[in-house]
Amino acid sequence: MKDTARLWRPALRAQRRAFSSSSRRLDNYAFIGLGQMGYQMARNLQAKLPPNDTIRVFDINNAAAEKLVREMKAQQAGGAVAQVATSAGDAAREADTVITCLPEPKHVKSAFESILATYDAIQNGELLSRPKPRLFIDCSTIDPTSSREVAAAVSSALPNRRGQFVDAPMSGGVVGATAGTLTFMLGAPDCLLGRIEPILLRMGKRVLHCGAQGAGLSAKLANNYLLAIENIATAEAMNLGVKWGLDPKVLASVINVSTGRCWPSEVNNPVPGVVDTAPASRDYAGGFGIGLMRKDLRLAMLAAKEADAELPLADKASEVYRAAEAEERCKGRDFSVVYRWLDGKE
Ligand code: NAD
Repeated sequence: MKDTARLWRPALRAQRRAFSSSSRRLDNYAFIGLGQMGYQMARNLQAKLPPNDTIRVFDINNAAAEKLVREMKAQQAGGAVAQVATSAGDAAREADTVITCLPEPKHVKSAFESILATYDAIQNGELLSRPKPRLFIDCSTIDPTSSREVAAAVSSALPNRRGQFVDAPMSGGVVGATAGTLTFMLGAPDCLLGRIEPILLRMGKRVLHCGAQGAGLSAKLANNYLLAIENIATAEAMNLGVKWGLDPKVLASVINVSTGRCWPSEVNNPVPGVVDTAPASRDYAGGFGIGLMRKDLRLAMLAAKEADAELPLADKASEVYRAAEAEERCKGRDFSVVYRWLDGKE
């Protein structure tokens, strides 16, 4: 795996130089899916693009697109021209680069049906005259098989590399999306890295190239599977220690310099008051929703089955998250709320 931030700095410098030239051609972008993540990502992208570029945004929730474009137009300093599109196909019609950030595989497939139907309706000649092949960057967390299906549909609708679809799921949450500090896990051919990385670095601070198309999602799902298990195990161990009479802060400080240390113990500790900035210390509000954790676990299990990889802990973990989400006191909260579901002392 390569950290492309180092490898592609020369390309980024070249692109920055190009921005200062008045002869630079216009780049058209489409951003589809303006939810918790996409809204902030599109805002950062637009603000960092030069004023002769255009970005057309679309969400089935039209109010989100209208609000975002109002916000983009109101900002003082520069940024690309922002417009609201009426459909995914309308957003993508003129775009050189289309970015999608949608919840589930079915939403990604539906957006691409609209996009490819629009291209189908355009004259072949118009497509052929486009100076740049179209690039599709899907930042949604979906399963690698669905992602490959969409990639195949794109390359069959736009053959001879006139359309290339890559996966770039991200980590960093809403806080990272807002601050523009996301980490992207990229699945793409080497030859596209120089084009993709400067775009992603307008929304994040790191691009990790994991391999060919689909590899970014495999890396993302493997990581989130591990996180799903670590989170439950941390909640169990903390609950156990507290029931034995240990002070939770003392226990966390032992774990965090010992072999049990992990992100849920150190940064996202599930016991209220142990880490002031963790969701547990604000009634499990914000953070990484238990519903999203369930979704990622389900996708990891699906992909594991396809690869014939055993995940003996997955069924139990899935059952824990399902049961926790079914309780009103846990529903919609950060996934560390599993500690509350265990009746941990708060
Ligand atoms: P979200 O549910 O907040 O937003 C999704 C948006 O997509 C909504 O605004 C919805 O109206 C829109 N949408 C649905 N179908 C559409 C369609 N066909 N065309 C256009 N718009 C459509 O989700 P989110 O939290 O922004 O997450 C987006 C993706 O990023 C998910 O795959 C998620 O797993 C992943 N992700 C989320 C986080 C996080 O902390 N929220 C972190 C990392 C990755």
